[in-house]
Amino acid sequence: MTSTPHDLAAAFTDRFGTEPDGLWSAPGRVNVIGEHTDYNDGFVLPFAINHSTTVAAALRTDRLVRVASTFAPDEAPVTADLDTLEEGGVDGWAAYPLGVLWAMEQSGHRIQGMDLLVDSSVPVGAGLSSSAALECSVAVAANDLAQAGISRRELAGIGQLAENRMVGAPTGIMDQSASLLGEAGHAVFLDCRSGESRLVPLDLEGAGLELMVIDTRVSHSHSTGGYAARRRSCELGAELMGVPALRDLSVKDLAEAAGVLDEETFRRVRHIVTENARVEDTVRVLSERGPAEIGPLLVASHASMRDDFEISCAELDTAVDTALDAGAIGARMTGGGFGGAAIALARVGAVTAIRDAVEGAFSAAGFRSPVIFSVLPGAGAARVA
Ligand code: ADP
Ligand code: MG
Repeated sequence: MTSTPHDLAAAFTDRFGTEPDGLWSAPGRVNVIGEHTDYNDGFVLPFAINHSTTVAAALRTDRLVRVASTFAPDEAPVTADLDTLEEGGVDGWAAYPLGVLWAMEQSGHRIQGMDLLVDSSVPVGAGLSSSAALECSVAVAANDLAQAGISRRELAGIGQLAENRMVGAPTGIMDQSASLLGEAGHAVFLDCRSGESRLVPLDLEGAGLELMVIDTRVSHSHSTGGYAARRRSCELGAELMGVPALRDLSVKDLAEAAGVLDEETFRRVRHIVTENARVEDTVRVLSERGPAEIGPLLVASHASMRDDFEISCAELDTAVDTALDAGAIGARMTGGGFGGAAIALARVGAVTAIRDAVEGAFSAAGFRSPVIFSVLPGAGAARVA
């Protein structure tokens, strides 16, 4: 990470021989609650974190794009021509920024060539969506430079299109929405069916709290197959229950579902239905009683993923159980499952004890040592210089 906007502007000039027209930042995100609900047309509650990706950018007079990253300081910039850029035609990290420019044009916005230098403080692959931070920083930069006037909601869709079609990852709209629509001290309550969102107060700092991220640094070999199998179970459950998506079932429908579905499909469905209800409950509790009161909902979310959806693993359970024993207000696994990160909500004064306890438990169990850090709800994507 190049530390200041000034440093990044200087690094841009070193790379490209001109000064940047400006700098734009977009944050990563963490999801407070609402896991595997996105592809069931349900609810999620992410927040933009106080770690972001910044891009220095300058327009060119032609249709060429050159992208470089401070992650690869010795690599020559990747160059592409907007006139010949094709779906799936870019390999490696450059597929994210080039994909965004491709997706913008696919969506009907004509842009010019530009030079881009990317820098980031979002940990990569730790479940904090460094990919969306990268996409959204480029999306807001290109939108401003082209004076395209694209709404934040449409920009989120452009980021998703880039990730789905240029990178080839079948991800939803949550990460980009959080990065573009988030605000300091708030979470983003997102309806994945309508795409509508609203900000919910989440002043962790004011409440003396931090959200700890415990990256287990493991990804079990069945994670990809497990994810696909869970999606299929959800589709099957919706079909057998005669609804367009599991979003259309409520907790009251579960008694009927128990009679219709086989035992395993029922448990998969029950996770999604109760998880959607927990997201709505969390939004209510945050608005009425504040963040210190959402702990039991996080704990229930974890139990549901562990027992009903069966996507946890020994490392994630150890992280969650140990954090709770050491004083966390709530904790749960996040993301696709079978590895990745857990989150723990904790009073600032308890963070060190929780960290020590989790590190100790991982060491005692013979697990790889986890990477643990805290995040707070920060600003959404914006021009910074
Ligand atoms: P995450 O959970 O962090 O989003 P992904 O695998 O979805 O994990 O995205 C990580 C990928 O995004 C990296 O492997 C890299 O290709 C790209 N990426 C993210 N940030 C940067 C950056 N600052 N510079 C270059 N590539 C980046
Ligand atoms: Mg990602």
